[in-house]
Amino acid sequence: MGKAILFSAPSGCGKTTIIGELMRYFDCFDFSVSATSRQPRGTERDGVEYYFMSHGEFMRRVAEGQFLEWEEVYQGTCYGTLRSELDRIWAKGKAIVFDVDVNGGRNIKRHLGDDALSIFVMPPSLEVLEQRLRGRGTDSEEAITKRLARSAEELKQAGQFDVTLVNDDLQRAVDEARAIIERFLGRQ
Ligand code: ADP
Ligand code: 5GP
Repeated sequence: MGKAILFSAPSGCGKTTIIGELMRYFDCFDFSVSATSRQPRGTERDGVEYYFMSHGEFMRRVAEGQFLEWEEVYQGTCYGTLRSELDRIWAKGKAIVFDVDVNGGRNIKRHLGDDALSIFVMPPSLEVLEQRLRGRGTDSEEAITKRLARSAEELKQAGQFDVTLVNDDLQRAVDEARAIIERFLGRQ
């Protein structure tokens, strides 16, 4: 088993942005591509941001035991980590980077134990989180309402992660994440 870095947070806290910056810095990282039953948005491509599939296909894979963890994150929309992703990445000798919701993060950490560093990304406040979700311009008003409704509950679970990272100023947050990860990987 190799190493893994897990990023969890409510939607809009900045996981994708922070991971994007870190992937440029750590060449030993490879991103775990999750499966989802939602439609691609914007420039998303199958096999890059997600493996996009129908609800039926997703459930067939669940029944076959292909997922390490999966969840109906929003009503009618499932997301999950395929076991084959771990094999694919560790076979290359790389560390896995996960971007999963808060329950998914706790589940994966339980499976991987000390081989995984779990990082909870915190927004500076719920107001800022709402502004960022709207500013991203990718979600309908209905989706934003659903996401915010979930956030307050998820934020209460920050204490169950190895590290809390406040995403106030992006560069500061990325620098802090880099230092924490280097310590975890035993580089410092
Ligand atoms: P997540 O992956 O957690 O859902 P994103 O990375 O998509 O969140 O970020 C949500 C929005 O907030 C994006 O439009 C992103 O550009 C913006 N954002 C992320 N981090 C910051 C930051 N530190 N300051 C201001 N805007 C940010
Ligand atoms: P989005 O639709 O914004 O891409 O993602 C919605 C939520 O699903 C985010 O909180 C994201 O972290 C979470 N998510 C993405 N992939 C997975 C996964 O494999 N498992 C779980 N549990 N959540 C995931």
